[in-house]
This record gives sequence, structure tokens and C-alpha cells, in this order.
Amino acid sequence: MRDGKSGKYIIIIGCGRLGAFLASSLSESKQNSVVVIDKKEEAFDRLGSSYSGFTIIADASEIETLRNAKIQKADVLVATTNHDNTNIMIAQIAKGFFNVPKVIARLTEPAKEKVYSELGIDTISPTALSAMEFYRIIMENGE
Ligand code: AMP
Repeated sequence: MRDGKSGKYIIIIGCGRLGAFLASSLSESKQNSVVVIDKKEEAFDRLGSSYSGFTIIADASEIETLRNAKIQKADVLVATTNHDNTNIMIAQIAKGFFNVPKVIARLTEPAKEKVYSELGIDTISPTALSAMEFYRIIMENGE
């Protein structure tokens, strides 16, 4: 894709709780083409029956896996494995080697966020987002 005219070609690494939810939601828009990669076959059980994308069983830290997923055509790559270092390594390859326009990595450790933003990699820390939401609700109810 990468032509801006049709939907997006999106690769999601890791079909855990976060990756599966994201993949299912994104595949609801029939314009998007979604591929989710996980090294464990049973991880794909988390995808809802309405999931209309593709699945690849492989270790996504191997470059061959990314090539098989046609990373050269991807508009977006989201790395959501449970390992920060794996996510960052894949994000760096996607950005620096394959020039994927939008790359986002899940980061459990919020303190590392600044370092990666300096490398041009967007990160999302579910830990920090949850803490902020808890804080907001606590303060709201405290009034
Ligand atoms: P969770 O523990 O719910 O955050 O899920 C993380 C998912 O990432 C699991 O399904 C793992 O099997 C998957 N995962 C971890 N490392 C890799 C990897 N190198 N390649 C592909 N999937 C991975």
C-alpha cells in the first residue's frame, strides 16, 4: 500500500492481550489489511471470530519473519510483545531498515520513553497510561 489512497497495511507483533485486541479492532475496518505475528500458535485463539486479517506463526525478531509479512509494504508496525527490548529492536529495524512510515512500540518501563523518542520511535507505555487513568478517576471521586 503506502499510496495513501486505500486503507492501511498494518503489522502487529505479538498476539497477546494487547496485540489481539488491537488486531481485532483494526480488522473491523475492511479497508485495513492486518497481519498479526506471534511465535505461539495458541496466541491466535485470542482473536475474535470476526477477525478478518492474516496470522503468521514465527519469531518476529528474525528479519526473515518480517520479510514474510511483507514489511516493505507496511504503512504501520506496532510491536506489542511482552519484552521491551524485543519491541524496540523490531521497531528500530522497521524504521531504520525498512522505512515503515509509522512505528509504535509497547514499552512497559516508562522511564525509557525519552531515549526511544529521540530515535524517532513512538512508544506507548500501558503502565503509564493506566496510572494516569487511575489518578484521574481517584481525583474525580475525591471532589
Ligand atoms: P502478553 O503477555 O499478553 O503481553 O502477550 C505477548 C505476546 O507476545 C505473547 O503471545 C508472546 O508469544 C508474543 N511474543 C513474545 N516474543 C515474541 C517474538 N519474538 N515474536 C513473536 N511473538 C512474540
